[in-house]
Amino acid sequence: MRIDLHTHSTVSDGTQPPAEVVAAAVEAGLDVVALTDHDSAAGWGEAAGAARRLGITLVPGAEISCQWRGVSVHLLSYLHDPEHPGLLGELTRARSSRERRAERMVELIDADYALTWDDVAALAAPGATLGRPHIADALVARGHVATRDEAFTSILATGSPYFVGHYAPDPVVAVELVRAAGGVPVFAHPKASRRGYTVGDHVIEAMVAAGLAGLEVDHRDHSEPDRARLREIAASHDLIVTGSSDYHGTGKQNRLGENGTSPADLERIEAEGKGHVIRP
Ligand code: AMP
Ligand code: ZN
Ligand code: FE
Ligand code: FE
Repeated sequence: MRIDLHTHSTVSDGTQPPAEVVAAAVEAGLDVVALTDHDSAAGWGEAAGAARRLGITLVPGAEISCQWRGVSVHLLSYLHDPEHPGLLGELTRARSSRERRAERMVELIDADYALTWDDVAALAAPGATLGRPHIADALVARGHVATRDEAFTSILATGSPYFVGHYAPDPVVAVELVRAAGGVPVFAHPKASRRGYTVGDHVIEAMVAAGLAGLEVDHRDHSEPDRARLREIAASHDLIVTGSSDYHGTGKQNRLGENGTSPADLERIEAEGKGHVIRP
């Protein structure tokens, strides 16, 4: 069984619509794929339709932007109720803050590199959770940089003068909200330090105390020692362990199925989640 529990579509910062992500998962030989767009469940319906049509199992999910003392933390949630008012409120607040933040970043960038809001709006799908990758695409379209990667190591870097933060809930609060919404919270790439600061193990412990279900261990941004340490933490608290690609279509080099999750860990997610996995 090949199981990949972390992918993005044009509902956030992936480059393919949800149905195409599902089709690409079939093409890649996966048996199970989760759609986990940033701060949104808007792709679930389209992905479910494609999964039924193409004969692959779909796990509905999301990747929730969180922030702990200024450090970005990503929390995967599986099988939650997307209408749960508490969770929906936080996600809506984060998405609108992301919009204002993107507008502000465009203004700042435009002082040095010609860029307009229309450039960004033209490249993002309507209603998409806006992120730096959309601004990156606009910078590429304008010829200021060659790729998303180049944009992230220059104009869009966290330490750059054009970087602006956005509202995101505390990860402990987010874990509680995901549980309240019947979801299964899994800490995404907890030690992906190449992309910025990461939180210490004491934050992982606090999230576990709040109901964290699992850790994403096998992810391309984790070194071997990172993975070993995460496996140790998972074993000491009997947590679910996942592995996944964090696929973004052509927006990142991550390939579907490059890391996987065991059927036993998927069974645990299914058993703990209130929502249902879509089976063909
Ligand atoms: P944001 O949440 O808007 O601050 O942007 C962070 C998002 O950009 C993350 O979800 C990453 O998946 C994506 N990202 C980070 N680094 C890169 C990169 N080098 N190329 C493409 N996408 C990236
Ligand atoms: Zn992303
Ligand atoms: Fe992430
Ligand atoms: Fe992701």
